[in-house]
Amino acid sequence: MAQAVKELWPDAKLGIGPSIEDGFYYDFDREEPFSPEDLGVIETKMREIIKKNYPFERREMAKAEAVKLFKNMGETYKVELIEKIPGDVVSIYSNGNFIDLCKGPHVASTGEIKAFKLLSIAGAYWHGIETNPMLQRIYGTAFPTQKDLEHYIKTIEEAKKRDHRVLGRQLEYFSMNDEMGPGLVLYHPKGARLRTLIEEYIRNEHLKRGYQLVIGPHILKSDVWVRSGHYDYYKENMYMFKIENQEYAIKPMNCPNHIMVYKSKTRSYKDLPIKLFELGTVYRNEKSGVLHGLLRVRGFTQDDAHIFCLQDQVEDEIIKVIDFVIDTLNAFGFDDFSIELSTRPAKSIGSDADWALAEKALIDSLNRKSLSYEINEGDGAFYGPKIDIKLKDALKREWQCATIQCDFALPERFDLKYIGQDGKEYRPIMLHRVILGSLERFMGALIEHFAGALPLWLAPVQCVIIPVSEKAGVYAENVWRTLFAGDIRVEIDARNERLQKKIRDAEVQKIPYMIVIGEKEESVGMISVRSKAQGDIGRMKLGDFIERIKEEKEKRVR
Ligand code: ZN
Repeated sequence: MAQAVKELWPDAKLGIGPSIEDGFYYDFDREEPFSPEDLGVIETKMREIIKKNYPFERREMAKAEAVKLFKNMGETYKVELIEKIPGDVVSIYSNGNFIDLCKGPHVASTGEIKAFKLLSIAGAYWHGIETNPMLQRIYGTAFPTQKDLEHYIKTIEEAKKRDHRVLGRQLEYFSMNDEMGPGLVLYHPKGARLRTLIEEYIRNEHLKRGYQLVIGPHILKSDVWVRSGHYDYYKENMYMFKIENQEYAIKPMNCPNHIMVYKSKTRSYKDLPIKLFELGTVYRNEKSGVLHGLLRVRGFTQDDAHIFCLQDQVEDEIIKVIDFVIDTLNAFGFDDFSIELSTRPAKSIGSDADWALAEKALIDSLNRKSLSYEINEGDGAFYGPKIDIKLKDALKREWQCATIQCDFALPERFDLKYIGQDGKEYRPIMLHRVILGSLERFMGALIEHFAGALPLWLAPVQCVIIPVSEKAGVYAENVWRTLFAGDIRVEIDARNERLQKKIRDAEVQKIPYMIVIGEKEESVGMISVRSKAQGDIGRMKLGDFIERIKEEKEKRVR
């Protein structure tokens, strides 16, 4: 691309041009801005260059010589780059008349490039510094085959259509506004309904699996955060304030509350494991620049639990959590996931021996489940290593959800104990874990995975009744009452609008079922049903419809 641009506009100066995830970009300094039409012109020139099959030739050059070479070409940005590279030699690549500073490696020749596309133009400051000149960045992508490229382009377009921020507004699930503050989610009635459904599901699953429900306060004295280590290791993410000269912080994590419940009485080895669960709302001071829809917010709720256990229970408990995660992802319609193991970060508490033990417990559990994972060096929590499980959505994009952390440090800091079989005091081990993770982010993943058309069991409105005229109003209300009593989330669209418009609106709202009723239906005591998935499915008895919904709900049909 850079060769093509230089052939078309010899006065354009080159900045940097790295490969990035899913493609590449190059920065150019040029008086006139590139227009979207220019991308087509550049692509045509690129095709010519590919056809000529120029070999990419690498040579090493003394830095002084390279500086002279690029100075002569007028490439002042390259000169600056070369001067900053440590050592005496740099590598230079050339193809045809085009010469560039590059570490490589490259394909052998331009003819090997099979399928590419230029995607967009953006402004970018040199080195990302605002006082530097603004360059023009052209983004592109390349694939081994045309088919792969087309698949990629389709995926980006599909992702745009599924954007949860757009669908969240269209479906009236949630909003955020600057008047309230960025990164703070306001759930509208349908979004609150969805959130409640997710909460009910996950709360029941926890109770079923031996967790006990607790609820803690949202603000705690700073003394607690000093003891937990958050004050020294996490302070920049916390919101602090004073009450009667005493400093408090809004909780960024739920751990201290659960620790206090554990500590509230003497525990015996026979009581362990103790599993305390909370739908815990936390606030973290994220920089406004990184906030993004429901993915990165300042206030969110976790399905958070802490498991206090004996050393020889750790592995079994971790495995139970992994099973819990897989079952939950399947229930919500996700079939694929990936796993990362994060090790000790530079800023952390606890002894090397404990970190080694904790990492071993996590690795052994993954091995026992024969699960493959990648290692994420230095990305653990400050108090322990962790396993991250990322779900993969319908477009194979990854979303961080579950985390399992193994912690020896906080039990030590809070002096947690249990009485062993010999009557002596011992320290329990603590597992921190979330299954869905942030409910906000999980909802974002759900919305994008299903492109807003949630399966019946999660749909905030499962069914809308559309009376064809005012005369059907009383019958519509009777149908509503029966469906409501049958545990179906149902609404009546009694607006004074044309039938076709009401049907279209229900489709836009992605409501799974529509019931159309008029005098004909009333006279035979039936309803006419349209399903979002199957279209018109004809007339049926109300009782049969309720049965149908019940079955679909129980099977969690997607
Ligand atoms: Zn925790």
